[in-house]
Amino acid sequence: MVGEISGDMAASEGRSVGFTRLTGALRRTLRLALDVALPQLCAACREPVDGAGLCPTCWSKLSFIAPPYCERLGIPFPFDGGPGLLSMEAIADPPAYQRARAAVRYDEVARTLVHALKYGDRLDLAPIMGRWMAHARVTHGALARVKSTRQQVGLDKSARAENVQGAFRVPANRKADVTGRKLVLVDDVLTSGATADACARALLRAGAASVDVLVFARVVSGLRTPI
Ligand SMILES: [Zn+2]
Repeated sequence: MVGEISGDMAASEGRSVGFTRLTGALRRTLRLALDVALPQLCAACREPVDGAGLCPTCWSKLSFIAPPYCERLGIPFPFDGGPGLLSMEAIADPPAYQRARAAVRYDEVARTLVHALKYGDRLDLAPIMGRWMAHARVTHGALARVKSTRQQVGLDKSARAENVQGAFRVPANRKADVTGRKLVLVDDVLTSGATADACARALLRAGAASVDVLVFARVVSGLRTPI
């Protein structure tokens, strides 16, 4: 009986290995055919490129906006005059909105990308442009770890909370980025929420108006009925 079963298993494994090899070869051939038929093109000039995105020429022409820039309008400054510096435009004619940030300068390549997305039905550009925009929105370095903590993996909920308690602080020179702001804390995974909670407490202590949390995935144990 045992022999028969292992014989059957061996036979079925043999078939499955052969089948996997065959489908793998087919998939590779199909991929090759697709690559030949539909080569990746530069998002701006449509020249063939390796991988997705822009060709080196277009990439070098795209000018990303990075600090230092006007705190209010996001207009880039030629030199760093310290945190919270405003442009002449922001002082002379302050806008109704609190802050504006842009990923890139609106020049030739940027115009091509925007027109392709808006009028050329190039929805495939949305993820890459979205990533650049998210980067321009984001404040880095507003939270510092002031206490070394153990890895949270393997700790229970109360141990996790204790581990990260008082572990984060807003550095004095970054308080202006936090005070009065409605913030979104971005992380990869929310488990017990202890780290997010400790970070939110530090941000609120530094004067943040509110803190929301956005994660890629959260741990959900069992189904809960709303109260
Ligand atoms: Zn190009």
